[in-house]
Amino acid sequence: MKIVLLGTGSPIPDPNRAGPSTLLKVGDLEHVLVDAGRGCIMRMAGAGSLPGFLAGILVTHLHSDHVTDLNDVITTYWIMSQAPTPLRIWGPVGIADFVRHTMAALAPDIGYRIAHHKDLTWEPMVEVVELEPGDRFEVGTSTVSVHRTAHEPVEPSIGYRFEHGDYVVALAGDTIPCAGVDEMCGGADAYVQTVVRDDLVKQIPNQRFNDILDYHSSVVDAAQTAARTRVGRLVLTHMVPAPRPDQYPEWVSMAAQHFDGEIIIGDDLTTIDLVERD
Ligand SMILES: [Zn+2]
Ligand SMILES: [Zn+2]
Repeated sequence: MKIVLLGTGSPIPDPNRAGPSTLLKVGDLEHVLVDAGRGCIMRMAGAGSLPGFLAGILVTHLHSDHVTDLNDVITTYWIMSQAPTPLRIWGPVGIADFVRHTMAALAPDIGYRIAHHKDLTWEPMVEVVELEPGDRFEVGTSTVSVHRTAHEPVEPSIGYRFEHGDYVVALAGDTIPCAGVDEMCGGADAYVQTVVRDDLVKQIPNQRFNDILDYHSSVVDAAQTAARTRVGRLVLTHMVPAPRPDQYPEWVSMAAQHFDGEIIIGDDLTTIDLVERD
């Protein structure tokens, strides 16, 4: 199984980082998208993935940076489909309304394309499932459990423990450390966490920017969670402020003071192969 960091950015526009999005490649043609940030479809193409490969999409929460390109995934999945096939989306309570409103916004486009293409006789088919912490379900050939995360006032927000064969990946989304994240991570091969550098953000005299500190994990928080829950690897993403590559060692050494497993930070399309690294 491979984990591809499709988008390692945040809401702050960055020419080199797409919005928050991670791809799990379970097999060559079985992929699962976790969150759908800005440019995620473009990065999927860069990762050798197409919407038709998606066994499903898992959404952690409804902050715009994590769902802004869901409309693009829905549309592209539909216009590249050769037969009516539902796109499956799982997410917290509220995702059904979000998708319903998205489909309403897409109505003109859907009408134009059906009118123009004789062989395209169906509208986009989307199956949405709203989840609660404690739920367990199958996506393709993998099993996923749902865990409560802490991102107030964003409520609900959830993370996913993704299990395939012998491999377990914990996908936290945006959260501060909490019991739900610990439960989700326990002994996972990899723990993917969105992080901020509180030491750097505090130096910027901007209240709106400083507000982000109370609902995100710092690098130290993520490393301490990784150590406490004995994960194999800590994967940092959604870094704020976005580091230059020459600053990566500083981020890694900060985490390494608390966690002695592997620590991965990277650019968009950084790929972690769980099989190769074992
Ligand atoms: Zn968020
Ligand atoms: Zn975010």
